[in-house]
Amino acid sequence: MLNIGVLALQGDFAEHAAMLRQIGANPIEVRKAEQLADLHGLIIPGGESTTISRVARASGLYEPLREFAARKPTWGTCAGAILLAKRVTGQEAHLGVMDIAVTRNAFGRQIDSFSTELLVEGFERPLRAVFIRAPIIESVGAGVRVLARLPDGRIVAAQQGHLLATAFHPELTPDTRLHTYFLDICHQQRVMA
Ligand code: GLN
Repeated sequence: MLNIGVLALQGDFAEHAAMLRQIGANPIEVRKAEQLADLHGLIIPGGESTTISRVARASGLYEPLREFAARKPTWGTCAGAILLAKRVTGQEAHLGVMDIAVTRNAFGRQIDSFSTELLVEGFERPLRAVFIRAPIIESVGAGVRVLARLPDGRIVAAQQGHLLATAFHPELTPDTRLHTYFLDICHQQRVMA
């Protein structure tokens, strides 16, 4: 069984944990650096990136998180994707491990949340994606694969080897396919390690 951490400092970690349990993984709510040791992968949930970053620093988790994400499967959803990004428009980056540039709150106040059908590379059927004050992935580096775009071409999901970033919230619909996709990445890394 895979031990998958869910960073549980702020945001919707409980929904991720429930979904992981549903597909047969062992979710672990991570609040301390020691808990990272036995994980096969980690999800950084949506919430508020500045708050998650601040609490992570205060809990001594910041550097351990960076080290973890640099080599082990890590998936950032929404605020989590902002935390992973190497570049964040108009401010300093946080963990800066994934070669993507993001802009926070990219959809403006009028449409701060919406959901839409999204075609994800490798998925047969589209996925309903829920966006809540979501970032957009402005650009990706050479080693990064784009997994999904909005109809206007803007990037909302990308993968760089063991790193996954989604601008939306896959834990807020019953569709478990992206969580299963992440578990596959964790399985592959486990076999290679
Ligand atoms: N707007 C938040 C941020 O900038 C992200 C929103 C979310 O995670 N749903 O951190």
